[in-house]
Amino acid sequence: MNQNTSNDFLQVLGLFKEHIEDILSQEGNILVEENVSIPIEETLDKVKKEINNCQKCKLSHNRTNIVFGVGNEKAKLLIIGEAPGYDEDIKGEPFVGKAGQLLTRMLIAINMKRSDVYITNVVKCRPPNNRNPLNEEISTCEPYLLKQLNIIKPKIILTLGNFAAQTLLHTSTGITKLRGKFYFYHDIKLLPIFHPAAVLRNSNLRKPVWEDLQLLRDEYQKL
Ligand code: SF4
Repeated sequence: MNQNTSNDFLQVLGLFKEHIEDILSQEGNILVEENVSIPIEETLDKVKKEINNCQKCKLSHNRTNIVFGVGNEKAKLLIIGEAPGYDEDIKGEPFVGKAGQLLTRMLIAINMKRSDVYITNVVKCRPPNNRNPLNEEISTCEPYLLKQLNIIKPKIILTLGNFAAQTLLHTSTGITKLRGKFYFYHDIKLLPIFHPAAVLRNSNLRKPVWEDLQLLRDEYQKL
């Protein structure tokens, strides 16, 4: 290749690179050093703004606050409960009542802090009188949870109670049978355990919960 041909070739390569960058920026992506495109619009703040004043299901009628989620946005562990309760609805923060205090103690028992993890629920608004969320409410709210998952990209998901496990694992099997082992949600390890509120009601659940927390601790320490 003579000098002129080589210069022409480099010029064409440069134009081609500019063209690709134009296309990516028009599609709402940015080009990073390793030529990996990242959607610009997906941040927790943006999803939180999007959810603000959501009226997509009937749970909007009685709520005081939407309970979006709280914690470390780069957490390796994402904890997903079922729905906000009375205290959470008032404060707009998940797991701040008695069950939340127990969750904090459960984390401390395996040498973790709330600030290490991100905590949210399957549905973001409190069901009236703390009833179970309905299937249509879960499916309407699920896209918000999936966006949170996609942004946080945890290494492990801990689900609390029936609904979080059943929603992510697409199963009707109950938590009593599901608990005690890891599953995969796409390529993320998922451990279903009893909800702390259930443990407060039934002290017999303390033993299986402690066994499951040890499984979680061992897996987390490998990260
Ligand atoms: S539960 Fe979810 S979908 Fe229903 S109103 Fe609240 S934020 Fe919207």
